[in-house]
Amino acid sequence: MISYDVTEWGKPLQKAIRETPTPQGTEVLVKVKYCGVCHSDVHIRDGYFDLGGGKKFHMGERGMALPVTMGHEPYGTVIAAGPDAGDVPIGADRLVFPWVGCGECARCAAEQDNHCMAMRAIGVRLGGGYADHVLVPHPKYLVDASGIDPSFAPILACSGVTTYSAVNKLLPCDPDEWIAILGAGGLGLMAVAMLRAQGHRNIAVGDVDPAKFDAARAAGATHTFDTREPDATAKLAALPGGLWGAVDLVGASATAAIGYGALRKGGRYVVVGLFGGELPLSTVTLAQRAATVQGSYVGSLGELKEVVEIARSGKLQPIPVSTCALDEVSDVLDRLKAGTVTGRVVAKV
Ligand SMILES: [Zn+2]
Ligand SMILES: [Zn+2]
Repeated sequence: MISYDVTEWGKPLQKAIRETPTPQGTEVLVKVKYCGVCHSDVHIRDGYFDLGGGKKFHMGERGMALPVTMGHEPYGTVIAAGPDAGDVPIGADRLVFPWVGCGECARCAAEQDNHCMAMRAIGVRLGGGYADHVLVPHPKYLVDASGIDPSFAPILACSGVTTYSAVNKLLPCDPDEWIAILGAGGLGLMAVAMLRAQGHRNIAVGDVDPAKFDAARAAGATHTFDTREPDATAKLAALPGGLWGAVDLVGASATAAIGYGALRKGGRYVVVGLFGGELPLSTVTLAQRAATVQGSYVGSLGELKEVVEIARSGKLQPIPVSTCALDEVSDVLDRLKAGTVTGRVVAKV
């Protein structure tokens, strides 16, 4: 099999050729057709996430050994299964749920792998989809996405389920309550589309780049604002009825200050983005405003299946997707790092 691997932190991906694995136990082998290229792979390739306040989360220090094949949005044909895999749809195309847990704890038993304390996500700890084959630990992680364009389906496994899980932490609510989406990149547009698909009406989108506002409005935003404006928080708080909730897809100190600071009483601030930053909280204000601050990390297998249903129903407005070749993934990561990619890129294997 062929893969493109991180062999040294911060360096371009390197092509590797090794024996195609034979699935053992409950494992399933998928021949990859497409794999989405995600911005978080920029950080993984660099070897760290910025935690804010000068602190870093180093992948190497947290037990991630090189080489690693990234790519956590694989889609392909099921071609083989281990002896304990049970009923497996050999020959069928499936989307792979990548947010796999240890398989042994209570969270995993409840199919909340994304809350497992010992996650081994495909494309992070386990070999991922920047390859022509990917090994999946169990057939339950294969999701039938038939009826959805196979070049679009991969992004549902990460940006789709991530934004769905995040906006659902603010739903159900009155569809005219104001919800702010911070960040108008690929995730931001997807979050707007997820809210729209569920009938939500009042959506404010903020970004540092007003050039992205046309795309945000096309996706269904009803208000846009420049997060660099000094009165951005006050203006957001002054929306009719106040701000019920914010989903922060950036996760910088500045966006956290706006998203949390603009909430009405009882409001919720949900942070998803891993840009890096800090949110200083007054315990008195937090209590008096009866506010909720919540993190949201990817999503569960059940949530991915719900996202696939929404996409299949046609209610989810597609965001711009372009394709690249597998040997171009490293260049695409460079472009993602430079911020010059519109929408999402999917590698065609
Ligand atoms: Zn991702
Ligand atoms: Zn677990």
